[in-house]
Amino acid sequence: MNVFSVNKKTARVRGIYIGLGSNIENPYLQIKNAIAALNKIPGTAVLMNSGYFKSKPMGPEDQPDYVNAVVEIETILNAEELLKNCQLIEKQQGRIKQRHWGERTIDLDILLYADQQIKADDLIVPHPGICSRDFVYMPLLKINPELKIPGKGILKIVVESAVDKTSDFACQFAGNIE
Ligand code: AMP
Repeated sequence: MNVFSVNKKTARVRGIYIGLGSNIENPYLQIKNAIAALNKIPGTAVLMNSGYFKSKPMGPEDQPDYVNAVVEIETILNAEELLKNCQLIEKQQGRIKQRHWGERTIDLDILLYADQQIKADDLIVPHPGICSRDFVYMPLLKINPELKIPGKGILKIVVESAVDKTSDFACQFAGNIE
């Protein structure tokens, strides 16, 4: 192994944000457990969390309200490796996809991966819903009010000036994650 690859594998990337959501089987605990699982990924640490946010469902209305949160992490994993680990956590917490935008035990989305812009078949970063979904941008802004979205600008300004305020899911802070 040369020095470059050693450095590459030990350097932790910062400015990575993961969005979490759950609306069945004790959502608060699901979120807490998923954050603990993220913290256990080798070479990864959870640096900050937004606390819990509650919101109305975005999709079908005949489902329970959602609990959401965002965490900032640092990791040695690249974005694809991180996605695989997030999907593993979803699987370990028993995620079964019943219907589009339907109820879920846990959902993990990579919102931002530092300043990277990725458009792959299985991964789009920044996540396309950041600026239009209050249950995403409110927890993000709680962690970092000055956050910049690559390709879009300062999140706070993008949200304030958004013409298509399609999402008003009545998102509210719902307590610290103890
Ligand atoms: P969802 O129903 O929200 O869990 O969507 C899961 C699908 O979205 C998976 O097939 C992922 O490969 C894909 N996907 C695309 N971009 C992202 C992202 N930024 N974070 C997580 N999943 C993503």
